[in-house]
Amino acid sequence: MAVFQTMLKTYGSQGWWPGETAFEVMVGAILTQNTAWPNVEKAISNLKRAGVFSAVSLLDMPHEALAKLIRPSGYFNIKADRLQQFCHFLQEQGGVEILGNMETTRLRKLLLGVKGVGPETADDMLLYAFQRPVFVIDAYTRRIFSRLGMVSGDESYEVLRMGFESALEADAVLFNEYHALIVRHAKAFCSKKPKCAGCPLAARCTIP
Ligand code: SF4
Repeated sequence: MAVFQTMLKTYGSQGWWPGETAFEVMVGAILTQNTAWPNVEKAISNLKRAGVFSAVSLLDMPHEALAKLIRPSGYFNIKADRLQQFCHFLQEQGGVEILGNMETTRLRKLLLGVKGVGPETADDMLLYAFQRPVFVIDAYTRRIFSRLGMVSGDESYEVLRMGFESALEADAVLFNEYHALIVRHAKAFCSKKPKCAGCPLAARCTIP
């Protein structure tokens, strides 16, 4: 919590996730794999402009046409396939609202069963689309907390997720803000080659 408080005081509230609906958050979670967010924004805006931003429309589209629209997000052939698989799953399950009424463990298991949805993507969806208290672990989390000496950084995804979840109160609002602040801090200071001068976490870090 001390790390969280320091980052919150430094950067302020991040107001995540930048998506208007649960569907948009989930599409964004798939498109953001291995790419920067501005590229995702371009791809989503292409889909909206083409009037195909719904599970039914994305499923109805020929693969090539979808891949062309989401080209800015990179890996567009793979992602077009993943999006269509995900939309198929949504339809099979009865839609976003039905998923929203499911218990978290069951929903997580179902999401992880969709081709192309790994733990980080599933947890992005659970936290940001469905407001479930699930802590998202990404490369930034591993990097920052290993430099702070709090984890080794090579633990499995589940070990880290459970570590954060047991150290913090199960609060989706807190987890939402915490992950967003980790991303912000990684970009502002704790990049691959860290810029430690002036870092708000320097006092508790093992690096400088
Ligand atoms: S002091 Fe440097 S390594 Fe440590 S958290 Fe800050 S930027 Fe990262």
